[in-house]
Amino acid sequence: MPEPSKPDDLGRSVPLVPPLYQSSVYTLPDLDALDQIVTAESPGFIYARDGHPNARHLAAELAALESATWAIVCGSGMASITAAVLALVQQGERVVASNRLYGRTTQFLGQELTRFGVQTTFVDTNDLDQVRKAVATPAKILFVETLSNPLLRVVDLEALAGISQEAGCLLIVDNTFATPVLTRPLDLGAGIVLESLTKMIGGHSDVTLGMLCGRGDWHAQVSQVVSIWGLASNPFDCWLASRGLATLGLRMRAACANAAGLADWLAQQRGIARVVYPGRPDHPDHELAGKLLGGLYGNMLCFELEGGRDAVNRFLRRAPGIPFSPSLGHTTTTCSHPGATSHRYVSPAERKRQGISDGLIRLSVGVEELAGIQEEIGRGL
Ligand code: PLP
Repeated sequence: MPEPSKPDDLGRSVPLVPPLYQSSVYTLPDLDALDQIVTAESPGFIYARDGHPNARHLAAELAALESATWAIVCGSGMASITAAVLALVQQGERVVASNRLYGRTTQFLGQELTRFGVQTTFVDTNDLDQVRKAVATPAKILFVETLSNPLLRVVDLEALAGISQEAGCLLIVDNTFATPVLTRPLDLGAGIVLESLTKMIGGHSDVTLGMLCGRGDWHAQVSQVVSIWGLASNPFDCWLASRGLATLGLRMRAACANAAGLADWLAQQRGIARVVYPGRPDHPDHELAGKLLGGLYGNMLCFELEGGRDAVNRFLRRAPGIPFSPSLGHTTTTCSHPGATSHRYVSPAERKRQGISDGLIRLSVGVEELAGIQEEIGRGL
C-alpha cells in the first residue's frame, strides 16, 4: 500500500498566496545546519525574533518598491524609527531633526535619547540655512518627515540630502504620509527611509508594523538592533500587510483624488477657519509638493473649525460616519484630533508654535465615493 502523503507535501503545487508561517521557532536537523543558517551559507530561519519568512517576503516587496537594496520589517513604525537611530548613534553623538514631527518621534529623539547621552537639535527643516547651520556642528543623523504630521509641510528632500552628504551625516526620512507611491526618498539621496506600515501601506487598520530600508551597508547593524532590542514583527501582521500592499497604488491614487476634491469643497464651507492641503495653492509648500510628489498631494488633510474644542466635539458627535479614530490610512475616511492624540504629549506652547489648535481636525481620506464623504462631513458641520 502506498504511504499516505504528508498533509504539507504539496507535490508540484505552489500556493499562489504565500503561506502564513505562524511559528515562533524552527526545527533543525543538526548543529551544522544551524551554523550554516547563522553564517548565511544556507537559507533558513531559526527564531522568529531574528527573522521569519513572512517578514522576509514583505521586506523584499517593500525593498523593490523603494528601490532599496535591503529592507527590514519591525513591530511598529516607532520600532523602525528606534531601530534606525539606535543602529547609527553612539553615546555623545548628535541628531538634528525637524521641529515638526509626529509627537512620539519628537519624544523619542528629544527625551528618550538624552538618557543614552545623545542630544537632538530641532530645527525648521523648511529653512535650509537653519539646517546647514545645525549640521555644521558634527551630527550623525538628519531626521525629517516628507509630509509632516499633522500640518503637511513638505521638505525639499533633494536639498536636504545634499546638505547632509556635505556635512557627513545620514538623512533619515519618515515617508509614512507620502508612501512610495508619491515619492521614493532613496532616489533623492536619503540614507534610510522608513514608514509606519500601520497606516496606508497596511491600509486596512488591522496591523501594527513598520519598515526601514536603504542602499548602504546598515543592514547588519539594524538587524542586530531589531533582534536585541526586541523590535521584530509578527508573521500574521506581515502576511496581512503584504495583502494590503498589493492595492497600495490603487488605494493611494483614489484617496488622493478624493482628498483634493474634499479640500476644495471644505474651503467653501462655513464655520471652517482654514483648510490645509498641499494640493491647494494657498499651502506654503504647494510648489515644492508639485515637484516632489509626482502630481499627487496625498490623502491627508487638515481643517480648523471655528469654535475650538466644543466645535470639534459637536462635529464628532454629528458625523459618526467619519469615525474619530486616531490613526490614518484606513480604506474609508476617518478623522483625528492632533491636539488630543498624536501631539497630546508635546507642550501647549509647542503645539501653538506648530499651529496645532484645539479646533484642528486631521482627515485621513479613504477610497469611498466623494459625495458620501461630503454628505457626512456636511452633517458634522
Ligand atoms: N511616523 C508617523 C508620521 C506617524 O504618524 C506614526 C504614527 O502615527 C508613526 C511614525 C508611528 O507608527 P506606529 O504607530 O506604527 O508605531
